[in-house]
Amino acid sequence: MAKDAELVIAGGGLNGMLLAVACAGAGLATIVIDRQDPAAMTGDRFDGRTSAIAYGSRLVFDGIGLWSAIADEAEPILEIRVADDDSPLFLHYDHRDLGGNAPLGYIVENRVLRRALFDRAATLPSLKLLAPGAVSEMQASDTGAVVMLADGTRLRTRLVAAADGQNSPLRRAAGIGTVEWRYAQTGIVTTVQHEHPHGGVAIEHFLPAGPFAILPMTGNRSSIVWTENADLTPHLLALPDAEFARELRMRFGDFLGAVEPVGPRWSYPLALMQAERYAGQRLALVGEAAHVIHPIAGQGLNIGIRDIAALAEIVVDARRLGLDIGDASLLERYERWRRSDALLLAAVTDGLNRLFSNTIAPVKVVRDVGLAIVNSVPPLKRLLMQHAMGLLGDRPRLARGEPL
Ligand SMILES: Cc1cc2nc3c(=O)[nH]c(=O)nc-3n(C[C@H](O)[C@H](O)[C@H](O)COP(=O)(O)OP(=O)(O)OC[C@H]3O[C@@H](n4cnc5c(N)ncnc54)[C@H](O)[C@@H]3O)c2cc1C
Repeated sequence: MAKDAELVIAGGGLNGMLLAVACAGAGLATIVIDRQDPAAMTGDRFDGRTSAIAYGSRLVFDGIGLWSAIADEAEPILEIRVADDDSPLFLHYDHRDLGGNAPLGYIVENRVLRRALFDRAATLPSLKLLAPGAVSEMQASDTGAVVMLADGTRLRTRLVAAADGQNSPLRRAAGIGTVEWRYAQTGIVTTVQHEHPHGGVAIEHFLPAGPFAILPMTGNRSSIVWTENADLTPHLLALPDAEFARELRMRFGDFLGAVEPVGPRWSYPLALMQAERYAGQRLALVGEAAHVIHPIAGQGLNIGIRDIAALAEIVVDARRLGLDIGDASLLERYERWRRSDALLLAAVTDGLNRLFSNTIAPVKVVRDVGLAIVNSVPPLKRLLMQHAMGLLGDRPRLARGEPL
């Protein structure tokens, strides 16, 4: 079958654009389609989130040569403190415990990541961006796939990547089922300015409604991910500025001096979703099209970045060998490589959220003792730190900081 691109990616969110830049950067003829206008997606009012980028994910950006465009606006995470409500027991991760200089990760504004990806995309001759545009369906056969857009355009290709998010239309059309549920919690996100420097310390403070995270940003700023009962969220979001600031300060505390919200308030419904398969005929699911987890550990995008590193390596290697990049055996390999990592993190984040978001006294005792035990067993602590940094397991070349 004659083709318009070797790889067509539905969805130009962070995962779709990362896959596009990685593959097109290695010479693959790639087309990305997104419903939204890139000018809006890279604007200040599109997404208020920051991402905790694990050190292993930073290596992926290194591998595709993009970290230098992000580094100046990335705040290194040097320590993480985990505390349970008013308990004196806590868990403390320090990057120095691992013996090197590498930080545990970085906090980067999503808009910074998006801009770096779109800027790089514009320089790659083998990458074409069709946005705004919508994928309506695909048809696959032994010889190739055809992707249909809402405006009637037909694109012939070898492989389609569904990076079209949690409600992935392509996943549904392929008949791939999911296991999913909504949490009765919402993630309220905003930025605060504080009097004293944060010193690169990220804080996860477990409150009865859910985790309240204080994530160090550049300057004397922190990003707040405030997990709250979904029922209460509309009221909090509608509060006048002074009252919202008071509610926020009650949870934040005064350890960084005076604290002032400085950005808009954003809210995100929270869910867990696992696709039953990560591949269909000539179709690979990546990022939130394949899995959505609670943001309690700041790992959702990091799992997606590892999907991209694995899929890009499989596809680029196959192409160099002259193989069909949409072949079922390659897609099976991708699914085997990625599924256990994503399932493990779904289970861990769901379990942590259930364990900490309640006020049952015996449960509180058990979890606080658990925190203290992990804190006092250095080899266990180091193992957990390396896992959270994405440095364990069978890592693709990009996730080791090597080019494709
Ligand atoms: C409050 C909160 C905090 C978080 N913090 C962290 C963190 O600190 N660290 C971390 O690792 N992760 C974090 N995450 C998770 C992370 O934000 C997501 O995993 C990530 O943004 C998902 O990106 P994606 O590209 O897979 O999906 P999306 O961002 O949903 O992108 C999907 C894209 O597909 C497009 N699309 C959909 N359908 C079509 C179609 N038919 N045709 C064309 N285009 C289509 C959409 O327009 C969209 O642009 C957090 C999540 C939340 C809710």
